[in-house]
Amino acid sequence: MRVPIIAGNWKMNKTVSESVEFVNYIKNELPDPSEREIVLAAPTLSLTSMVQAAKDTPLKIAAENCYCRIAGAYTGETSPRSLSLAGIHHVILGHSERRRLFNETDELINQKVQVALRNGLCPIVCCDDTMGRRIAGKKVRWVVSRILADLKGLSPADVTKVTMAFEPSWAIGTGQSADPEQAAEGCYLIRQTIRDMYGEDIGNAVRILYGGSVNETNIKALMAYDDIDGVLVGGASLDPDRFLKLVNS
Ligand code: PEP
Repeated sequence: MRVPIIAGNWKMNKTVSESVEFVNYIKNELPDPSEREIVLAAPTLSLTSMVQAAKDTPLKIAAENCYCRIAGAYTGETSPRSLSLAGIHHVILGHSERRRLFNETDELINQKVQVALRNGLCPIVCCDDTMGRRIAGKKVRWVVSRILADLKGLSPADVTKVTMAFEPSWAIGTGQSADPEQAAEGCYLIRQTIRDMYGEDIGNAVRILYGGSVNETNIKALMAYDDIDGVLVGGASLDPDRFLKLVNS
């Protein structure tokens, strides 16, 4: 059984004290981890304080990015090894904002995925469909080629530690979510691609999230689809009451 994941992505929002205050507010209201995995991705500076605040609770803390090397002359970058040793569980990689604003390529994302896994982090790999509203024809090939490139060289055991996130770029931060059927279609396409690459069992084991203007109103309809194993939420994760509604919906 795939345990659903509800993951918040705060992006470059919240100071360290605001982050800790948020964790303290929600930490005793979370669902049983065997039913739902709750993850919060936060700015790098907040991460260690959040890990402390979340100690002995089911909340898992995630980084929003990391580099593809564990140490060296890479000014301003964050080591996946340091993140892992600091108690961080997951790292978001390949978010469309990283691809678009920071020119991250599939090749770089693939390197980051490999190094993150080697250092004990579970990557949440985002895959968008910038080419259009419907996943059809050419767009299918484009999405598939992106997944092949991002997961290149991973062993089957590695792939089961990866969570994929289908995030149509036109739905991110726009208030205009994909309709549930469309979101499920994207997640299904990702699952089929993983089945083709790694076989039925691995394809069935990997968790695939939908992201793009998810809120407390549309989450239920999205999660009703078998191929949607959870959600990655930006804007609606910033308010603790809204986030609790999402995680307990
Ligand atoms: C995101 O940043 O991954 C995201 C899905 O944002 P939002 O929920 O605000 O659309």
